[in-house]
Amino acid sequence: MSVRAYSADRIYDGDTVLHDHAVIVEGDSITGLVKLNAVPSDLPLIRHPGCTIIPGLIDTHMHFMRWQGPAFLAYGVTTVRDTGNDLDWILQCREAWPKETWPRILCMGPLLDGDPPGHPLVARTITDVDAAAVAVRETASSGVDAIKLYASIAAEWIAPMVEASHAAGLKVSMHCLPHGVLVAGRAGVDEFYHLDGILADVWPDRPSGWLYVWGDQDFCQTWDRQLQVADEIAELGIVSTPTLAYWDSQWRRRLQDPYDEESRFVPGDLLTWSSADPDPETGEVWRRATEAAVRFQGLLLERDVPVLAGSDTPCGGILPGQSLWRELTLLVEAGLSPLGALRAATSDAADFCERPELGRLRTGSAADIAIVRGDLTATIPDQPEIEHVVRAGVDYDQPAALLQEFHDSGWRDDPWGRQMALHWAKRISPKA
Ligand SMILES: [Zn+2]
Repeated sequence: MSVRAYSADRIYDGDTVLHDHAVIVEGDSITGLVKLNAVPSDLPLIRHPGCTIIPGLIDTHMHFMRWQGPAFLAYGVTTVRDTGNDLDWILQCREAWPKETWPRILCMGPLLDGDPPGHPLVARTITDVDAAAVAVRETASSGVDAIKLYASIAAEWIAPMVEASHAAGLKVSMHCLPHGVLVAGRAGVDEFYHLDGILADVWPDRPSGWLYVWGDQDFCQTWDRQLQVADEIAELGIVSTPTLAYWDSQWRRRLQDPYDEESRFVPGDLLTWSSADPDPETGEVWRRATEAAVRFQGLLLERDVPVLAGSDTPCGGILPGQSLWRELTLLVEAGLSPLGALRAATSDAADFCERPELGRLRTGSAADIAIVRGDLTATIPDQPEIEHVVRAGVDYDQPAALLQEFHDSGWRDDPWGRQMALHWAKRISPKA
């Protein structure tokens, strides 16, 4: 592949902001980040005035379906970390991404879960502590990038599972409901998802129904305890991936129409299945819950708890890629600077995943680049205009056109398509 250079008004390289520079790409790698006047005159220079060049984004929490691939690329997301899927299927997808219109894929294999599992078609069910360690060892030896524990894992299994995973060189991430984040963190879990486990920590004698707790008018009375829990989380050094875009989707679904892009590009049934009927009352509870979650994430940011950007698509019917930009704006709302938010989806994500070739624009990095209209160092757009995407050296100079590659057919056969169909059947069966 030919050597070429890209320039824009500014470049965020994953660590700092540079002006009057260009990124040089050869094959699937970046071979230089140089002053504009040092770009060899015989090199094609692709200029994007009015734009910011950033490393291709990493969505650190999502569940892969094939239809999502082009949409991620359309929004400049060049790596996704699958946080729970059918093991054999996701390993095949991870193998196949270079040949497809997909981002590169990191994966955790199945949700390791207790009995009964929350999402049986994408889970491995565990019934006792010995089976728990075996499940971790077998999943690790299949070649996954990390281990994911789900909500029904018994509290006393967590430490042996973490030990087995760390012995295999893999980090452990957890959906911590119902034991709480502190129990998980003390057992050695490296990363927690969705903030929702916090409830067990801040309001142990809570009324039932976690949504109603976060959205409860009296939740603010736990404020002192929230501060203590935030302090303890900071001491444990556990990473937060709050997936605020998912929370946000839940009140929007009940109080507003989907975004235009969601209506146009999320497969119709999938949007319906992951939506709720308009319901102003529950919508307001979800809105308060989302505000409380954003506020709590703010407490973690004040304490320098590391944060990663993940969207949880396809849950909530949110559009892959766009949902990660939404996550970045919500992280800014929680207290990150625009550059801090970008870091959560680039260099910090790559560091946590131990993939030094990703998340930065420097010599030797993978040629994963997004060129976005506007000054991203000042404002993170909710609806970004992506001008150009490079994924592993492959150019997409009309990224928006990738959205048209969507097809409604096929997604039902993917594990999460089948899982969602099962959920939907359960949801409508009481009416039948
Ligand atoms: Zn998830």
